[in-house]
Amino acid sequence: MAQTDGSAMTNSGDEAKRGGSPHPPREERPRRESSLASLAQNDSARRGGQDCPPRDKVSARDAASLQAEGLTFAYTPGEPVLAGLSMTAPAGRLTAVLGPNGSGKTTLLKVLVGLLSPSAGQVRLSGRPLASYRRADLARRLAYVPQETLAAVGFTVLETVLLGRSPHIGALGFESDADWRAARDALRLTETDRFAERDLADLSGGERQRVIVARALAQQPDAVLLDEPTSFLDIRHQHGIYGLLRHLVSDRGKTVVTVSHDLSLASAYADAVVLLARGEVAAAGTPQEVIRPEVLEPVYETPIQVRTDETTGRPYVLPRPPGSRKTTYG
Ligand code: ADP
Repeated sequence: MAQTDGSAMTNSGDEAKRGGSPHPPREERPRRESSLASLAQNDSARRGGQDCPPRDKVSARDAASLQAEGLTFAYTPGEPVLAGLSMTAPAGRLTAVLGPNGSGKTTLLKVLVGLLSPSAGQVRLSGRPLASYRRADLARRLAYVPQETLAAVGFTVLETVLLGRSPHIGALGFESDADWRAARDALRLTETDRFAERDLADLSGGERQRVIVARALAQQPDAVLLDEPTSFLDIRHQHGIYGLLRHLVSDRGKTVVTVSHDLSLASAYADAVVLLARGEVAAAGTPQEVIRPEVLEPVYETPIQVRTDETTGRPYVLPRPPGSRKTTYG
């Protein structure tokens, strides 16, 4: 599994800097494809009026399913953060992991990618226990975008994104045309190409977040796991990132798992939702099945209103301030 934060920029980072060809890649004509801004719009237009998951254009044959089976994990002995948790992120689908602060979302993601080892239970990737994969295979198949990213000093955006190719680059450390193509494709999709030559440390938090997503995309993994990828982003870029995640799922057959605090955003884009409470799965299903006041209120311990978007049929949530009418659904 390749971690995409600054801390992972070790040997492979040096390789990229040292072996990184000073020449731009042979200019290939990029496939015309939507960028971040238009992906959300295209996707919502494509899905307009549907209340079931979109049909994938690409077979999910090569995508990876992720299954957690009875995971138990504790940072402190006797205080489990995950307590026998089981869930599935189906291949070629976008699964959102929701839940209150401290419910175990980040911990679950780290166990799913093999950064933390459970004391009981196991994770299966495409049906095979994670532990049975060679590290190099995992690095190619899984990309992880952590919540906080350290800006590595002295790396440009392009170099950072190229680091995503590390699992594919041979021992000599020279990037191939395919590596450059993947990096440029990722830059374009995340609309980070215009600051490709800038130092990563000079970007805003939101810009840097998009670069780290680009780095994961450049890796061309079967599954991408993201921890609150929109936390620093404005509303346009929030929808842009979720549109991009849908594009990865619907057009490229990837499996995506994303942790989100934004129930409405997750509901608008996800095929499946897993709601955590105190290290267990409180509910799992389609957004319509899970984003309901009677499911959410006991978990978040606050009154919540749920409405339905008339066009998409997808639920969205509103806070219920004191004195407002009792929650309605629909
Ligand atoms: P979430 O992502 O849902 O907010 P986390 O998985 O980050 O939840 O955290 C779940 C619980 O584990 C919290 O009580 C948190 O304080 C604790 N925790 C998280 N990371 C560590 C750590 N490195 N050491 C000790 N406790 C931790």
